Amino acid sequence: MLGAVASSVASSVVDLATPRLARAQGRAQVVVVGGGFGGATAARALARSGHAVTLVERDAAFLACPFSNAVLVGLRRLDQQRFGYDGLTAAGVKVVIDTATGVDAAARQVTLAAGATLGFDRLILAPGIDLNHGGIQGYGEAAAEVMPHAWRAGAQTTLLARQLDAMADGGTVVMSVPANPYRCPPGPYERASLIAWYLKARKPRSKLIVLDAKDTFSKQRLFQRAWNELYPGLIEWVGQSAGGTVTAVDAETRTLSTDFGRHKADVANVIPPQRAGRIAELAGVADRSGWCPVDPVSFESRRQPGIHIVGDAGIMGAMPKSAFSANAQAKACALAIAALLKGAEPPPVRLINTCYSLVAPDYGISVAGVYRPANGLLADIEGAGGTSPLDAPRDQRLAEAHYGEAWFQTITSDVYG
Ligand SMILES: Cc1cc2nc3c(=O)[nH]c(=O)nc-3n(C[C@H](O)[C@H](O)[C@H](O)COP(=O)(O)OP(=O)(O)OC[C@H]3O[C@@H](n4cnc5c(N)ncnc54)[C@H](O)[C@@H]3O)c2cc1C
Repeated sequence: MLGAVASSVASSVVDLATPRLARAQGRAQVVVVGGGFGGATAARALARSGHAVTLVERDAAFLACPFSNAVLVGLRRLDQQRFGYDGLTAAGVKVVIDTATGVDAAARQVTLAAGATLGFDRLILAPGIDLNHGGIQGYGEAAAEVMPHAWRAGAQTTLLARQLDAMADGGTVVMSVPANPYRCPPGPYERASLIAWYLKARKPRSKLIVLDAKDTFSKQRLFQRAWNELYPGLIEWVGQSAGGTVTAVDAETRTLSTDFGRHKADVANVIPPQRAGRIAELAGVADRSGWCPVDPVSFESRRQPGIHIVGDAGIMGAMPKSAFSANAQAKACALAIAALLKGAEPPPVRLINTCYSLVAPDYGISVAGVYRPANGLLADIEGAGGTSPLDAPRDQRLAEAHYGEAWFQTITSDVYG
């Protein structure tokens, strides 16, 4: 039953490496890897239900991606994106700042970089994404120092912000956007919008080219209508069939190549293809696509029993890779694990996602969906979601910009508060 907060916090990591003993004492051990939106939510929910939960997170503080596009153009500071783990500790979660380097699914043990091992009865992996650098010839960690992706918030966000700030009026910004699936389907277009807003205000002779590896994208009609209205002539979007797929980059000359030609940039933002965080592959839960197939009710891996995956790393059918989704999946997964540990069936799930995007500081749009398990995946419930109206008045756009901010405050206090 979800309710009481776990009170006993073991004093050392090694104390937790004995799941069977723990079970004999009536306390099942759950280990969660990844303290982002998915993992931190699941850890908190399970601690609340009285389970012994250890959360392993690489970084001492979490830097949230939602609203990091606003940081790029000076609308927010990066420190407003930072959340510590004290709230989780107070909620009864044992937080271990370390990197998980291996998982032995048969022995039910996680190995940490510092050398300790953690035993588990159930493991949740929520490592988010890794960048699939091989997807674009010439792109890698060194090239990202010149042509930042800024697709994980932090130093990359600051780097891209500095480059935009340093660019002369009349410069060309080029963005490269990957094919599906990737983290935050509308994120690149929100970024394009806010960069256009910034250029229009500060460097009006500049131009933004968006090279896209697909022909359709999330909230496309809403974005494109707003671009025409707010930034006429400033954004050139090139879809896949018009030659938008970036196949190679040259960091020295800041050039992006497609099958149709080359684009020389003053500032280049390369968002490469992605896959599940590396620990998923090491645990044997990722398939050849690089993502992790799961049961859509329990979020248990289809490849390794006892391991569950939530958030961006999972293959979630129609449900997009978003913080909202990760939070919802994590709560359902926590309920499923609480049931499974009692020998009961996981409860049925209906999950919601809403993604807000800023087209300008006072202009928000959104898409919402409701999902249920169907054919082994999460499927859209027809007619249950939708987007902002195409012809909404400006006060509705302003209201949606406020709703987006309120959502961010709510989810971050729900997860980290
Ligand atoms: C520019 C941008 C804008 C976005 N805007 C929105 C938005 O408006 N709304 C929305 O809902 N979503 C948005 N998103 C998407 C959102 O950020 C992700 O979908 C969400 O963070 C996924 O949560 P997660 O828990 O799966 O991964 P993450 O939040 O990335 O968390 C993963 C965590 O795991 C840790 N980790 C990984 N491997 C290990 C390991 N081996 N050992 C220990 N720790 C490890 C990482 O350090 C990280 O803290 C946006 C994303 C971007 C890039």
